Amino acid sequence: MGLKLFNTLSRSVQEFAPLDPAGKKVGMYCCGPTVYDFAHIGNWRTFVFADLVRRYLEFNGHAVTHVMNITDIEDKIIKGVREAKTTLPEFTGRYEAAFLEDLKTLNCREPHQKPRATEHIPEIISLIEKLIQRGVAYKAADGSVYFSIEKYRGCGCNYGQLLKLNFDEMRAGERVKSDEYAKESVADFALWKARVPEDGDIFWPGPFGEGRPGWHIECSAMSMKILGASFDLHLGGEDLIFPHHEDEIAQSEGATGKPFVKYWLHGAFLLVEGKKMSKSLGNFFTLRDLLAKGFTGREIRYLLLTAHYRETFNFTLDGLAGAKTALARIDECIGKLRELSGSQTGFAGDPLSITPFVNALNDDLNISEAWACVFDWVRETNSRLAKNTLTPERAAIALGTWEHFDSVLGIGTKSAGEAPAEILVLTEARTTAKKTKDFKRADAIRDELKAKGWTIEDTPKGPKLKKL
Ligand SMILES: [Zn+2]
Repeated sequence: MGLKLFNTLSRSVQEFAPLDPAGKKVGMYCCGPTVYDFAHIGNWRTFVFADLVRRYLEFNGHAVTHVMNITDIEDKIIKGVREAKTTLPEFTGRYEAAFLEDLKTLNCREPHQKPRATEHIPEIISLIEKLIQRGVAYKAADGSVYFSIEKYRGCGCNYGQLLKLNFDEMRAGERVKSDEYAKESVADFALWKARVPEDGDIFWPGPFGEGRPGWHIECSAMSMKILGASFDLHLGGEDLIFPHHEDEIAQSEGATGKPFVKYWLHGAFLLVEGKKMSKSLGNFFTLRDLLAKGFTGREIRYLLLTAHYRETFNFTLDGLAGAKTALARIDECIGKLRELSGSQTGFAGDPLSITPFVNALNDDLNISEAWACVFDWVRETNSRLAKNTLTPERAAIALGTWEHFDSVLGIGTKSAGEAPAEILVLTEARTTAKKTKDFKRADAIRDELKAKGWTIEDTPKGPKLKKL
Protein backbone atom coordinates (compact mmCIF):
# COMPACT_ATOMS: atom_id res chain seq x y z
CA MET A 1 0.00 0.00 0.00
CA GLY A 2 1.39 3.39 -0.98
CA LEU A 3 0.83 6.76 0.59
CA LYS A 4 -2.73 8.08 0.63
CA LEU A 5 -3.60 11.66 1.47
CA PHE A 6 -6.81 13.62 1.91
CA ASN A 7 -7.01 16.02 -1.02
CA THR A 8 -9.19 19.06 -0.28
CA LEU A 9 -9.68 19.41 -4.05
CA SER A 10 -11.46 16.06 -4.39
CA ARG A 11 -12.66 15.98 -0.76
CA SER A 12 -11.43 12.41 -0.57
CA VAL A 13 -8.45 10.28 0.42
CA GLN A 14 -6.41 9.62 -2.71
CA GLU A 15 -3.35 7.60 -3.62
CA PHE A 16 -0.37 9.95 -3.86
CA ALA A 17 1.21 9.83 -7.33
CA PRO A 18 3.59 12.67 -8.21
CA LEU A 19 3.33 14.43 -11.58
CA ASP A 20 6.91 13.32 -12.35
CA PRO A 21 6.54 10.29 -14.66
CA ALA A 22 9.44 8.65 -12.83
CA GLY A 23 7.52 9.13 -9.57
CA LYS A 24 10.61 10.57 -7.89
CA LYS A 25 10.48 14.37 -7.88
CA VAL A 26 7.86 16.16 -5.81
CA GLY A 27 7.16 19.90 -5.82
CA MET A 28 5.68 21.12 -2.55
CA TYR A 29 4.61 24.65 -1.65
CA CYS A 30 3.56 25.76 1.79
CA CYS A 31 2.22 29.27 2.42
CA GLY A 32 4.80 30.86 4.67
CA PRO A 33 4.68 33.50 7.37
CA THR A 34 3.60 37.10 7.03
CA VAL A 35 6.53 38.66 8.80
CA TYR A 36 4.90 41.38 10.93
CA ASP A 37 5.05 39.60 14.31
CA PHE A 38 6.28 36.39 15.93
CA ALA A 39 4.45 33.30 14.69
CA HIS A 40 2.06 31.79 17.26
CA ILE A 41 1.63 28.17 18.20
CA GLY A 42 -1.35 27.78 15.83
CA ASN A 43 0.88 28.86 12.94
CA TRP A 44 3.54 26.43 14.13
CA ARG A 45 1.13 23.53 13.97
CA THR A 46 0.88 24.12 10.20
CA PHE A 47 4.65 24.38 9.71
CA VAL A 48 5.36 21.25 11.76
CA PHE A 49 2.67 19.47 9.72
CA ALA A 50 4.39 20.60 6.48
CA ASP A 51 7.67 19.32 7.89
CA LEU A 52 6.07 15.92 8.60
CA VAL A 53 4.77 15.71 5.02
CA ARG A 54 8.18 16.62 3.63
CA ARG A 55 10.06 14.22 5.91
CA TYR A 56 7.73 11.36 5.08
CA LEU A 57 8.05 11.96 1.33
CA GLU A 58 11.83 12.00 1.73
CA PHE A 59 11.64 8.85 3.86
CA ASN A 60 9.84 7.26 0.90
CA GLY A 61 12.72 8.22 -1.39
CA HIS A 62 11.16 11.23 -3.12
CA ALA A 63 13.34 14.16 -4.17
CA VAL A 64 11.26 16.95 -2.65
CA THR A 65 11.58 20.61 -3.57
CA HIS A 66 10.04 22.37 -0.60
CA VAL A 67 9.14 26.01 -1.19
CA MET A 68 7.88 28.35 1.51
CA ASN A 69 7.25 31.98 0.70
CA ILE A 70 7.96 34.89 2.98
CA THR A 71 5.17 37.45 2.74
CA ASP A 72 7.13 40.62 3.37
CA ILE A 73 4.64 43.09 1.92
CA GLU A 74 1.04 43.16 3.12
CA ASP A 75 -1.47 45.45 4.86
CA LYS A 76 -0.42 44.55 8.42
CA ILE A 77 3.26 44.93 7.55
CA ILE A 78 2.76 48.44 6.19
CA LYS A 79 0.87 49.36 9.35
CA GLY A 80 3.71 47.90 11.44
CA VAL A 81 6.40 49.80 9.54
CA ARG A 82 4.44 53.02 9.98
CA GLU A 83 3.91 52.47 13.70
CA ALA A 84 7.51 51.39 14.36
CA LYS A 85 8.79 54.36 12.30
CA THR A 86 11.27 52.11 10.57
CA THR A 87 11.98 50.81 7.08
CA LEU A 88 10.31 47.83 5.41
CA PRO A 89 13.48 45.64 5.25
CA GLU A 90 14.40 46.47 8.84
CA PHE A 91 10.91 45.61 10.09
CA THR A 92 10.35 42.40 8.11
CA GLY A 93 14.00 41.27 8.44
CA ARG A 94 13.66 41.09 12.19
CA TYR A 95 10.57 38.86 12.11
CA GLU A 96 11.89 36.73 9.26
CA ALA A 97 15.08 35.98 11.23
CA ALA A 98 13.01 35.14 14.31
CA PHE A 99 10.78 32.85 12.24
CA LEU A 100 13.72 30.92 10.81
CA GLU A 101 15.26 30.58 14.25
CA ASP A 102 11.96 29.20 15.62
CA LEU A 103 11.75 26.81 12.67
CA LYS A 104 15.12 25.41 13.75
CA THR A 105 14.07 25.22 17.40
CA LEU A 106 11.20 22.97 16.28
CA ASN A 107 13.66 20.89 14.23
CA CYS A 108 11.82 21.53 10.96
CA ARG A 109 13.91 20.90 7.86
CA GLU A 110 14.59 24.23 6.23
CA PRO A 111 12.63 24.75 2.99
CA HIS A 112 14.87 24.55 -0.08
CA GLN A 113 13.63 27.90 -1.30
CA LYS A 114 12.20 30.79 0.69
CA PRO A 115 11.18 33.38 -1.89
CA ARG A 116 10.32 36.86 -0.64
CA ALA A 117 7.44 38.70 -2.26
CA THR A 118 9.39 41.96 -2.52
CA GLU A 119 12.04 40.18 -4.59
CA HIS A 120 9.47 38.93 -7.12
CA ILE A 121 7.72 42.11 -8.18
CA PRO A 122 8.60 41.62 -11.90
CA GLU A 123 7.13 38.07 -11.87
CA ILE A 124 4.02 39.33 -10.08
CA ILE A 125 3.58 42.17 -12.59
CA SER A 126 3.95 39.86 -15.56
CA LEU A 127 1.36 37.45 -14.10
CA ILE A 128 -1.08 40.34 -13.63
CA GLU A 129 -0.44 41.45 -17.22
CA LYS A 130 -1.26 37.94 -18.43
CA LEU A 131 -4.54 37.99 -16.51
CA ILE A 132 -5.44 41.37 -18.03
CA GLN A 133 -4.62 40.04 -21.52
CA ARG A 134 -6.83 37.02 -20.89
CA GLY A 135 -9.67 39.34 -19.91
CA VAL A 136 -10.06 38.13 -16.31
CA ALA A 137 -8.45 41.16 -14.64
CA TYR A 138 -9.23 44.85 -14.97
CA LYS A 139 -8.03 48.21 -13.76
CA ALA A 140 -10.63 49.99 -11.64
CA ALA A 141 -11.25 53.72 -11.16
CA ASP A 142 -9.14 53.70 -7.97
CA GLY A 143 -6.08 52.72 -10.05
CA SER A 144 -5.89 49.21 -8.58
CA VAL A 145 -6.07 46.06 -10.66
CA TYR A 146 -8.69 43.47 -9.68
CA PHE A 147 -9.41 39.88 -10.58
CA SER A 148 -12.89 39.52 -12.07
CA ILE A 149 -14.66 36.48 -10.72
CA GLU A 150 -17.55 36.98 -13.11
CA LYS A 151 -15.31 37.04 -16.20
CA TYR A 152 -13.36 34.06 -14.91
CA ARG A 153 -16.52 32.03 -14.40
CA GLY A 154 -17.79 33.28 -17.75
CA CYS A 155 -14.84 31.52 -19.43
CA GLY A 156 -16.07 28.23 -18.05
CA CYS A 157 -13.58 28.25 -15.18
CA ASN A 158 -14.56 26.99 -11.78
CA TYR A 159 -14.23 29.43 -8.87
CA GLY A 160 -14.90 27.40 -5.74
CA GLN A 161 -12.89 24.25 -6.39
CA LEU A 162 -11.81 23.82 -2.78
CA LEU A 163 -14.99 24.99 -1.15
CA LYS A 164 -18.49 24.63 -2.50
CA LEU A 165 -19.68 28.21 -2.84
CA ASN A 166 -23.28 29.26 -3.17
CA PHE A 167 -23.02 32.21 -5.51
CA ASP A 168 -26.69 33.10 -5.13
CA GLU A 169 -26.28 33.64 -1.42
CA MET A 170 -23.01 35.48 -1.73
CA ARG A 171 -22.65 39.10 -2.61
CA ALA A 172 -20.90 38.55 -5.89
CA GLY A 173 -19.36 41.35 -7.88
CA GLU A 174 -18.23 43.55 -5.00
CA ARG A 175 -14.63 44.53 -4.84
CA VAL A 176 -12.18 44.15 -1.97
CA LYS A 177 -8.83 45.73 -1.67
CA SER A 178 -7.80 44.45 1.73
CA ASP A 179 -5.70 41.29 1.91
CA GLU A 180 -8.26 39.48 4.00
CA TYR A 181 -11.94 39.60 3.27
CA ALA A 182 -15.09 38.27 4.81
CA LYS A 183 -15.66 34.59 4.32
CA GLU A 184 -19.32 35.09 3.41
CA SER A 185 -18.71 37.17 0.35
CA VAL A 186 -17.30 36.37 -3.05
CA ALA A 187 -15.71 39.50 -4.36
CA ASP A 188 -13.26 40.67 -6.97
CA PHE A 189 -9.95 40.86 -5.21
CA ALA A 190 -6.97 43.16 -5.67
CA LEU A 191 -3.98 41.91 -7.65
CA TRP A 192 -2.23 45.27 -7.64
CA LYS A 193 -3.06 47.95 -5.09
CA ALA A 194 -2.63 51.52 -6.25
CA ARG A 195 -0.39 53.62 -4.03
CA VAL A 196 -2.19 55.50 -1.26
CA PRO A 197 -0.71 58.10 1.12
CA GLU A 198 -0.67 55.62 4.06
CA ASP A 199 1.78 53.42 2.09
CA GLY A 200 4.50 56.06 2.61
CA ASP A 201 7.48 55.14 0.50
CA ILE A 202 6.45 51.49 0.15
CA PHE A 203 5.49 51.14 -3.50
CA TRP A 204 6.86 49.93 -6.81
CA PRO A 205 6.46 51.37 -10.29
CA GLY A 206 4.29 49.18 -12.50
CA PRO A 207 2.68 49.33 -15.93
CA PHE A 208 -0.63 49.92 -14.14
CA GLY A 209 0.82 52.76 -12.05
CA GLU A 210 2.66 52.92 -8.73
CA GLY A 211 1.53 50.43 -6.13
CA ARG A 212 2.15 47.06 -4.59
CA PRO A 213 0.96 43.49 -5.06
CA GLY A 214 -1.99 41.93 -3.24
CA TRP A 215 -1.33 38.97 -0.98
CA HIS A 216 -2.91 36.21 -3.09
CA ILE A 217 -0.98 36.97 -6.30
CA GLU A 218 2.36 36.66 -4.48
CA CYS A 219 1.85 32.95 -3.86
CA SER A 220 0.73 32.21 -7.44
CA ALA A 221 3.71 34.06 -8.95
CA MET A 222 6.36 32.58 -6.67
CA SER A 223 5.09 29.00 -6.58
CA MET A 224 4.78 28.79 -10.38
CA LYS A 225 8.15 30.46 -10.95
CA ILE A 226 9.94 27.84 -8.88
CA LEU A 227 7.78 24.73 -9.28
CA GLY A 228 6.20 25.31 -12.70
CA ALA A 229 2.61 25.94 -13.83
CA SER A 230 1.47 22.61 -12.37
CA PHE A 231 2.93 21.03 -9.27
CA ASP A 232 2.19 18.27 -6.77
CA LEU A 233 1.41 19.59 -3.32
CA HIS A 234 0.16 22.81 -1.81
CA LEU A 235 -0.17 23.02 1.96
CA GLY A 236 -1.52 25.49 4.43
CA GLY A 237 -3.77 25.95 7.44
CA GLU A 238 -7.48 25.35 6.84
CA ASP A 239 -8.15 29.06 7.42
CA LEU A 240 -6.38 29.71 4.09
CA ILE A 241 -8.75 27.57 1.99
CA PHE A 242 -11.00 30.52 1.28
CA PRO A 243 -10.34 32.99 -0.09
CA HIS A 244 -6.52 32.72 -0.25
CA HIS A 245 -6.13 29.31 -1.86
CA GLU A 246 -9.25 29.62 -3.96
CA ASP A 247 -7.83 32.88 -5.30
CA GLU A 248 -4.43 31.29 -5.92
CA ILE A 249 -6.14 28.67 -8.10
CA ALA A 250 -8.14 31.30 -9.99
CA GLN A 251 -5.09 33.48 -10.68
CA SER A 252 -2.85 30.59 -11.69
CA GLU A 253 -5.30 28.65 -13.81
CA GLY A 254 -6.69 31.92 -15.19
CA ALA A 255 -3.20 32.79 -16.46
CA THR A 256 -1.93 29.40 -17.65
CA GLY A 257 -5.09 27.43 -18.49
CA LYS A 258 -3.42 24.44 -16.79
CA PRO A 259 -4.37 22.67 -13.57
CA PHE A 260 -2.43 24.45 -10.81
CA VAL A 261 -1.98 21.92 -8.00
CA LYS A 262 -2.67 18.18 -7.87
CA TYR A 263 -3.08 17.73 -4.09
CA TRP A 264 -4.21 20.39 -1.62
CA LEU A 265 -3.50 19.52 2.01
CA HIS A 266 -4.89 21.55 4.88
CA GLY A 267 -4.01 21.39 8.55
CA ALA A 268 -6.79 21.89 11.08
CA PHE A 269 -7.10 24.60 13.73
CA LEU A 270 -5.41 24.58 17.07
CA LEU A 271 -7.24 25.38 20.28
CA VAL A 272 -5.24 26.36 23.33
CA GLU A 273 -6.59 25.23 26.72
CA GLY A 274 -9.86 24.35 24.99
CA LYS A 275 -10.46 27.77 23.48
CA LYS A 276 -9.67 29.72 20.37
CA MET A 277 -6.41 31.52 21.00
CA SER A 278 -6.76 35.14 21.92
CA LYS A 279 -4.61 37.67 23.69
CA SER A 280 -7.47 38.71 25.96
CA LEU A 281 -8.04 35.13 27.18
CA GLY A 282 -4.35 34.77 28.06
CA ASN A 283 -4.05 31.62 25.93
CA PHE A 284 -2.15 33.22 23.06
CA PHE A 285 1.35 31.78 22.85
CA THR A 286 4.22 32.35 20.51
CA LEU A 287 6.90 29.69 20.49
CA ARG A 288 9.07 32.04 22.49
CA ASP A 289 6.40 32.40 25.19
CA LEU A 290 6.46 28.63 25.69
CA LEU A 291 10.27 28.45 25.74
CA ALA A 292 10.25 31.16 28.40
CA LYS A 293 7.96 28.92 30.47
CA GLY A 294 10.75 26.33 30.42
CA PHE A 295 9.45 23.99 27.71
CA THR A 296 11.77 22.88 24.94
CA GLY A 297 11.33 23.00 21.17
CA ARG A 298 11.47 19.23 21.23
CA GLU A 299 8.54 18.92 23.65
CA ILE A 300 6.49 21.43 21.70
CA ARG A 301 7.19 19.64 18.41
CA TYR A 302 6.24 16.31 19.97
CA LEU A 303 2.93 17.65 21.27
CA LEU A 304 2.07 19.31 17.95
CA LEU A 305 2.76 16.00 16.23
CA THR A 306 0.54 13.85 18.41
CA ALA A 307 -2.75 14.68 16.69
CA HIS A 308 -3.86 13.90 13.16
CA TYR A 309 -3.42 16.94 10.95
CA ARG A 310 -7.10 17.07 10.02
CA GLU A 311 -8.30 17.04 13.63
CA THR A 312 -8.79 20.16 15.67
CA PHE A 313 -6.20 19.81 18.39
CA ASN A 314 -6.40 21.11 21.93
CA PHE A 315 -2.92 22.26 22.91
CA THR A 316 -2.47 22.54 26.68
CA LEU A 317 0.34 23.20 29.12
CA ASP A 318 -0.58 19.88 30.79
CA GLY A 319 -0.10 18.26 27.40
CA LEU A 320 3.39 19.74 27.28
CA ALA A 321 4.17 18.29 30.69
CA GLY A 322 2.97 14.94 29.34
CA ALA A 323 5.28 15.38 26.35
CA LYS A 324 8.22 15.64 28.73
CA THR A 325 7.31 12.27 30.28
CA ALA A 326 6.76 10.58 26.90
CA LEU A 327 10.10 11.82 25.58
CA ALA A 328 11.88 10.74 28.77
CA ARG A 329 10.61 7.18 28.15
CA ILE A 330 12.08 7.23 24.65
CA ASP A 331 15.34 8.78 25.86
CA GLU A 332 15.78 6.17 28.55
CA CYS A 333 15.28 3.33 26.10
CA ILE A 334 17.64 4.80 23.48
CA GLY A 335 20.24 5.59 26.15
CA LYS A 336 20.29 1.95 27.24
CA LEU A 337 20.48 0.72 23.64
CA ARG A 338 23.45 3.01 23.02
CA GLU A 339 25.20 1.70 26.09
CA LEU A 340 24.65 -1.90 25.09
CA SER A 341 25.49 -1.55 21.40
CA GLY A 342 28.83 0.09 22.16
CA SER A 343 30.41 1.50 19.01
CA GLN A 344 28.32 -0.54 16.55
CA THR A 345 26.24 1.72 14.32
CA GLY A 346 24.79 1.86 10.81
CA PHE A 347 22.33 -1.01 11.10
CA ALA A 348 19.24 -0.88 8.90
CA GLY A 349 16.67 -1.55 11.59
CA ASP A 350 14.05 -4.21 12.02
CA PRO A 351 11.45 -4.37 9.22
CA LEU A 352 8.98 -6.07 11.56
CA SER A 353 8.89 -2.92 13.69
CA ILE A 354 9.19 -0.42 10.84
CA THR A 355 6.42 -1.82 8.61
CA PRO A 356 3.46 -1.08 10.96
CA PHE A 357 4.81 2.47 11.42
CA VAL A 358 4.96 2.94 7.64
CA ASN A 359 1.48 1.47 7.18
CA ALA A 360 0.09 3.96 9.70
CA LEU A 361 1.66 6.94 7.95
CA ASN A 362 0.58 5.71 4.53
CA ASP A 363 -2.98 5.93 5.81
CA ASP A 364 -3.33 9.72 5.38
CA LEU A 365 -0.49 10.30 7.87
CA ASN A 366 -2.20 8.55 10.77
CA ILE A 367 0.24 9.91 13.29
CA SER A 368 -1.48 8.67 16.46
CA GLU A 369 -1.24 5.12 15.11
CA ALA A 370 2.41 5.77 14.17
CA TRP A 371 3.16 6.92 17.74
CA ALA A 372 1.40 3.84 19.08
CA CYS A 373 3.79 1.73 16.97
CA VAL A 374 6.76 3.66 18.39
CA PHE A 375 5.65 3.23 22.00
CA ASP A 376 4.85 -0.48 21.47
CA TRP A 377 8.40 -0.82 20.22
CA VAL A 378 9.77 1.10 23.23
CA ARG A 379 7.82 -1.16 25.61
CA GLU A 380 9.01 -4.32 23.89
CA THR A 381 12.61 -3.12 23.73
CA ASN A 382 12.56 -2.15 27.40
CA SER A 383 11.25 -5.56 28.35
CA ARG A 384 14.05 -7.26 26.38
CA LEU A 385 16.58 -4.97 27.97
CA ALA A 386 15.22 -5.82 31.41
CA LYS A 387 15.42 -9.54 30.68
CA ASN A 388 18.94 -9.18 29.27
CA THR A 389 17.89 -10.92 26.05
CA LEU A 390 19.39 -8.32 23.67
CA THR A 391 22.86 -8.89 22.24
CA PRO A 392 24.96 -5.79 21.41
CA GLU A 393 24.22 -6.44 17.74
CA ARG A 394 20.45 -6.63 18.32
CA ALA A 395 20.72 -3.39 20.29
CA ALA A 396 22.45 -1.76 17.31
CA ILE A 397 19.69 -3.01 14.98
CA ALA A 398 17.12 -1.56 17.38
CA LEU A 399 18.92 1.79 17.16
CA GLY A 400 18.64 1.50 13.37
CA THR A 401 14.87 1.06 13.80
CA TRP A 402 14.71 4.17 15.95
CA GLU A 403 16.63 6.16 13.32
CA HIS A 404 13.97 5.21 10.76
CA PHE A 405 11.21 6.39 13.07
CA ASP A 406 13.02 9.57 13.93
CA SER A 407 13.90 10.55 10.38
CA VAL A 408 10.13 11.09 10.00
CA LEU A 409 9.27 12.32 13.49
CA GLY A 410 12.30 14.56 13.93
CA ILE A 411 12.22 14.68 17.70
CA GLY A 412 15.78 13.41 18.20
CA THR A 413 17.09 12.05 21.45
CA LYS A 414 19.13 13.32 24.29
CA SER A 415 22.72 12.55 23.37
CA ALA A 416 24.98 10.74 25.81
CA GLY A 417 26.65 13.02 28.31
CA GLU A 418 24.04 15.74 27.81
CA ALA A 419 23.07 17.79 30.80
CA PRO A 420 19.96 16.77 32.76
CA ALA A 421 16.60 18.22 31.73
CA GLU A 422 16.56 20.72 34.59
CA ILE A 423 19.86 22.23 33.43
CA LEU A 424 18.72 22.35 29.79
CA VAL A 425 15.51 24.13 30.78
CA LEU A 426 17.53 26.74 32.67
CA THR A 427 19.88 27.19 29.70
CA GLU A 428 16.94 27.78 27.36
CA ALA A 429 15.38 30.21 29.82
CA ARG A 430 18.67 32.12 29.88
CA THR A 431 18.81 32.24 26.06
CA THR A 432 15.27 33.60 26.00
CA ALA A 433 16.10 36.17 28.67
CA LYS A 434 19.09 37.32 26.61
CA LYS A 435 16.96 37.51 23.48
CA THR A 436 14.44 39.71 25.22
CA LYS A 437 17.35 41.77 26.60
CA ASP A 438 16.52 40.83 30.18
CA PHE A 439 20.20 40.66 31.15
CA LYS A 440 19.50 40.76 34.85
CA ARG A 441 17.52 37.53 34.62
CA ALA A 442 20.12 35.99 32.26
CA ASP A 443 22.86 36.67 34.83
CA ALA A 444 20.74 35.29 37.67
CA ILE A 445 20.20 32.06 35.71
CA ARG A 446 23.93 31.83 35.01
CA ASP A 447 24.57 32.01 38.78
CA GLU A 448 21.91 29.40 39.43
CA LEU A 449 23.55 27.07 36.88
CA LYS A 450 26.91 27.62 38.56
CA ALA A 451 25.43 26.69 41.92
CA LYS A 452 24.18 23.47 40.33
CA GLY A 453 27.65 22.68 38.97
CA TRP A 454 27.45 23.88 35.34
CA THR A 455 29.11 26.73 33.49
CA ILE A 456 27.82 28.21 30.31
CA GLU A 457 29.97 29.40 27.45
CA ASP A 458 28.46 31.53 24.67
CA THR A 459 29.70 30.40 21.26
CA PRO A 460 28.67 31.50 17.75
CA LYS A 461 26.67 28.25 17.58
CA GLY A 462 24.81 29.02 20.79
CA PRO A 463 25.46 28.39 24.48
CA LYS A 464 27.68 25.46 25.40
CA LEU A 465 27.33 23.75 28.76
CA LYS A 466 30.31 22.48 30.72
CA LYS A 467 30.36 20.52 33.96
CA LEU A 468 32.36 22.30 36.63
ZN1 LIG B 1 -0.22 31.46 -0.08
